[in-house]
Amino acid sequence: MPLPMPKRCRKEIRLAFGISLLPGLVLVAALMAGDDGLAALVFFSTFGVIVIGTLVPRCAWFGSLVTSLPASSESVCLTIDDGPDPAHTPALLHLLDQHQAKALFFLIGDRAARHPELVREIVRRGHLIGNHSETHPSATFWALGPWRMWAEIAGCQQTLTQITGAAPQWFRPPVGHHNLFVAAPLRALGLRMMLWNCRGYDAVEKDAALVLRRIEKGIGPGAILLLHDATPICEEVLRSSLALLQKKGLHVQLPAC
Ligand SMILES: [Zn+2]
Repeated sequence: MPLPMPKRCRKEIRLAFGISLLPGLVLVAALMAGDDGLAALVFFSTFGVIVIGTLVPRCAWFGSLVTSLPASSESVCLTIDDGPDPAHTPALLHLLDQHQAKALFFLIGDRAARHPELVREIVRRGHLIGNHSETHPSATFWALGPWRMWAEIAGCQQTLTQITGAAPQWFRPPVGHHNLFVAAPLRALGLRMMLWNCRGYDAVEKDAALVLRRIEKGIGPGAILLLHDATPICEEVLRSSLALLQKKGLHVQLPAC
């Protein structure tokens, strides 16, 4: 039974919806007044705000988010998305143990429900788990309406809380997209949104060496590194990333909540 949407969350969504209608009203008024210049300006600026605010992962126009550790940090936060996966997660846990490194695993709710023992094992080894939506609708997450958005975020939160007995405190949207309807559910559920500032595109790339070169270019103190579970190269990428961090003298730390 999915969690019902709290009243305050509904209120905030109605407000967001109302604000989103304002440019449309101005556009209609401009068209009715025959002011084509103003109409074009409103149309293209609104379109630009929606596209950039929704699709650019590090853009905070539609809700506050974290993309790096505090400026004073000398460490790196290691995040691993899209698990758990029985074929790969145990090997990733083993590699992390070997380096005495702790990671933040952003888990997909329906995968977690299929492998609850694996979720509990991640926690048992001292890692954090975060909410990565219930079904990971990567192609459509940017366009989800308020009710489906609530179901994705609250559903995963409920799944992970039932499995581990503790509610996650971090949320990462699938492929980093976040629209107007993400902030209210996060507030209602006590979640903070975490993106990243370093990645090697390991979810789409097949060449682990190329992934590592990209990571090497972007890594430094305070970085939040995005890696993925459940890919053919995930073990190789984590192994080489951990070696790279060691070579650069960068410690791995979990984020403060
Ligand atoms: Zn993902």
